[in-house]
Amino acid sequence: MRTVFLDVDTQLDFLYPAGALYVPGAEHLVPLLAQLNHYAASERIPLICTMDAHTENDPEFQRWPRHCVAGTLGQRKPEALLLPQRALAPVIAPQMIVEKQSVDCFTNPHLAGLLATLQPERCVVYGVVTEICVLHAAQGLVDRGYRVQIVAEAVRELSREAADAMHARFPFVSLGHILSGGE
Ligand SMILES: [Zn+2]
Repeated sequence: MRTVFLDVDTQLDFLYPAGALYVPGAEHLVPLLAQLNHYAASERIPLICTMDAHTENDPEFQRWPRHCVAGTLGQRKPEALLLPQRALAPVIAPQMIVEKQSVDCFTNPHLAGLLATLQPERCVVYGVVTEICVLHAAQGLVDRGYRVQIVAEAVRELSREAADAMHARFPFVSLGHILSGGE
């Protein structure tokens, strides 16, 4: 089955307590996220990574604390989540970075183009924040006709209630299901 992995916003500002917009507990995801990204590499599954890349005075900072300003340490991904061969979208590479200035990754037009090229029969989604950027990614994929699976152990939420609502809307699968080649 043609599969694409979509790693959503796994950046230092979100993942670690010292980050500008820390998602509580997210640092515990990092080993699981690393397993997923390196599994993608070993299985030659295309890995698309969305990344916030804000300007200094981004309009989003009226709503959220200043975070993930392009070029800052907090905007980076942990080393463990990087593959040696990566490129900025729309270039095709084992790891493709889709930068965005909005909670909706489809605001970067290159994402739709990558998907049209890769033609996935399934999109495996993980990252942060479950009920914000992961939700926009999953919903955007479903709206465009793609089949979505969210990896239950590899997402983290700010609101338990909002995350529970996600479980009613999208199929969640276990990390073990994905890593054992389940479809
Ligand atoms: Zn942002």
